[in-house]
Amino acid sequence: MDEFALIGRYFAGLCGSDDSIVVGIGDDCAQLRVLPGHDLVVSIDTLVEGTHFLPGTHPEWLASRLLGAAVSDLAAMGAIPAWFTLALTLPEADEAWVGRFASQLGRSARQFGITLVGGDTTRGPLTLSAQVHGWVPAGRGLHRRGAAVGDLVCVTGTLGDSRGGLECQLAPEKGVNDSLLERFFAPQPRLDCGRRIAAHASACIDISDGLLADLGHVLAASEVGARIERRALPLSPALVSYCGETQARDWALCGGEDFELCFTVPVSRWETLQRDLAGGGVPVTRIGEILPATEGLQLADGGKPCPLPGTGYNHFASADDRADKE
Ligand code: ADP
Ligand code: MG
Repeated sequence: MDEFALIGRYFAGLCGSDDSIVVGIGDDCAQLRVLPGHDLVVSIDTLVEGTHFLPGTHPEWLASRLLGAAVSDLAAMGAIPAWFTLALTLPEADEAWVGRFASQLGRSARQFGITLVGGDTTRGPLTLSAQVHGWVPAGRGLHRRGAAVGDLVCVTGTLGDSRGGLECQLAPEKGVNDSLLERFFAPQPRLDCGRRIAAHASACIDISDGLLADLGHVLAASEVGARIERRALPLSPALVSYCGETQARDWALCGGEDFELCFTVPVSRWETLQRDLAGGGVPVTRIGEILPATEGLQLADGGKPCPLPGTGYNHFASADDRADKE
C-alpha cells in the first residue's frame, strides 16, 4: 500500500469540516481561519521509538500519548484546541498497525475537541510528531512569566503516576498497575482547568519534564524563587500502594509526563479561583509559595528545609550530569 492510499484510507476521514477549515487534507497546505479577535497558539511534540516508548508499544497507546501530550501544551496556555497536523515516520506500511493507530487518534481528537488537517508520511525509524494549534483571546493566555512574590504555587490532579506507569513497563516483575499505565499512555490534558484558571493565574506550565524542572522554568521566566512543601504534593492511592509514600513523593517531584498543570495565583484570588473550579472534577492543590529570586527553589518537609532530589529529564544533559542527579 502506498503513502497516498494510506493517507486516503486512514487519515483523510479524520479531518473535520467546519467554518475554520477552508481547505483540509489533500492539498499542499491546509488553509485555516482563526476566530476573529483571537491569537493563534502553536506547539509540536515528537515521540521516538526507543527514547519515548519501548519497541512493540500498542499503536493505540502511542496515539493517545502523542495527542494527549501535545494538547497539554494548549491547556497550559489556557487555549481552545482547534487543529493538528501529524508527521508519521514508519518502518513499513503495516496496515493493521496504522488502522489501530488512526482509530485511537480519532477518538482522542474527538475527546479533546481538535481535528486533523494535514501531515506528512515517510519511511524510517518509528517516529511520531503532532503539531497542535489553538487560540486564545487576543493578547491573553497563560504564560510562564508573571509569577510574583507571595503567590501560591498550585497543581492540578495527582503527581508521579506517569513515572509509576513507566516503572510498570521497565520492571513488570514488581507488579503492574493498570491505572498508572493509563496515566503514562493516555495523559488527560487539563483543558477545562486551563481555561478556568486563566482569569486568575499569574503564570502556568504543564508538567512534562517533572514538577521541579518545569516549575524551574516558571521561576526563571518570572525571575522569582519558590518553596515547595513535600507533604502537600497530591498523590494517588494507586501510586502510594504501588511504591510506598517516600518513593511516590520523589516521583511526584521529579517524574516526568504527568501532564498536570502547575500554576501560580495571587493569594487574593484563591477563593474566587476555588469557586470557578467548582464542578470541574479535577482537584487543585496548593503546594508552596513564590519567594524572591535570591531564595532560589527550596524544598520543605513538614516545614523543615530538606534537600532537592535530582530534577527532571533533559534529552541533551551529559551522561555525567545525569549520573550526578541519580
Ligand atoms: P506535499 O508533497 O505537497 O507535501 P503530501 O503528498 O505529503 O503533500 O501530502 C498530501 C496531503 O496529505 C497533504 O494535504 C498532507 O497534509 C496530507 N497528509 C500527508 N500525510 C498525512 C498524515 N499522516 N495525516 C494526515 N494528513 C496527511
Ligand atoms: Mg506540495
